[in-house]
Amino acid sequence: MSTIEQMIQDKAYALGYEKCGIVPIQALDDYGEQLQERIQKVPFAEKFYERQKHFASIQQEYPWVKSVIVVAVRYGKYKIPEHLKGHIGKAYLFDSRVEQGSIRNSLAMEKYLQELGLKVASNQKFGMIGLRLAAMKAGLGIIRKNNFFYTESGSWVRLEAWLTDREMKLIEDSHLPVCPKGCNRCIQACPSGSLSSSYTMSPLSCISFLTTFGGRDLPNEPLCKNFGDWIYGCDACQDACPMNKGKWEETDDFPEVSQWSPHLTPENVMGMKEDFYQQKIQPKFFYLAPEELWKWQVNVLCFMRNNYQETYQPYIIVACQNENPKVREMAQLICKERYA
Ligand code: SF4
Ligand code: SF4
Repeated sequence: MSTIEQMIQDKAYALGYEKCGIVPIQALDDYGEQLQERIQKVPFAEKFYERQKHFASIQQEYPWVKSVIVVAVRYGKYKIPEHLKGHIGKAYLFDSRVEQGSIRNSLAMEKYLQELGLKVASNQKFGMIGLRLAAMKAGLGIIRKNNFFYTESGSWVRLEAWLTDREMKLIEDSHLPVCPKGCNRCIQACPSGSLSSSYTMSPLSCISFLTTFGGRDLPNEPLCKNFGDWIYGCDACQDACPMNKGKWEETDDFPEVSQWSPHLTPENVMGMKEDFYQQKIQPKFFYLAPEELWKWQVNVLCFMRNNYQETYQPYIIVACQNENPKVREMAQLICKERYA
């Protein structure tokens, strides 16, 4: 007869998860220490890690927690719209936290756990624990020098977790090779210098941060000249990794991509109306708020500045009169550089 751990893992596989393991909550006791080490490497980013500090004391909020179920779902299988390749981070393009099918899988998993009589808690959008640490302890894979979590599918996986009130343990099988000796391709590939050495990344200078919930003042951010082709997110340190070679296979259609992706060209973002953004784009790219279309437009202007073409001129000129001061400032900066 199957153990409850085995039944949970079988259910996860049946729902399409690539990996599923379970660790006692005590296995995460060193999270606080590891976080502190990370902060010591980049002390100026301490504020950024404020929320994660809370993960270290999750048992205070959920005193009934005895174990954590952690799963990995592969997203490196979706067809990427050609015009968005290299401009929008793939984790944001194919975000299973907002895609109905996968959300249903999360809900189905949670319902199953409750049917088994477990008390559970989860926050699939923003997490409740150190997911990568939990996944590593549960044997799902390894954390590489670029700080991303890898399974046999490379780093193109998303982690989810549930806290439970039952003592359980099930360690997955994973036999991944460590990073090749001397490899530093991810560090070399980082356009902003954010990934400065192995396992050392300053979140505040990461393009993924600066083009999403950070970077509120890009016209005065010297690093934005290093953003290259990226508009929202950045995959450079994952794309450059040999352990990701051949791991993305464009075999599946992600739901509704054809409906929203044509609207994310630089030109269409500059002409986007607030209500369209709020209804169609923001719910999907939720790291920017409903009132932050302006931030997308600053990102696009930054892209236009770094990849200037004459055809961008009308959009830049119009943006000089935009009602948002940061959009105006970025557009006027380009005008000064190009047309003064
Ligand atoms: S996501 Fe981009 S900017 Fe951030 S560490 Fe990786 S390569 Fe550097
Ligand atoms: S690029 Fe090399 S060092 Fe960096 S994560 Fe990949 S294998 Fe490891």
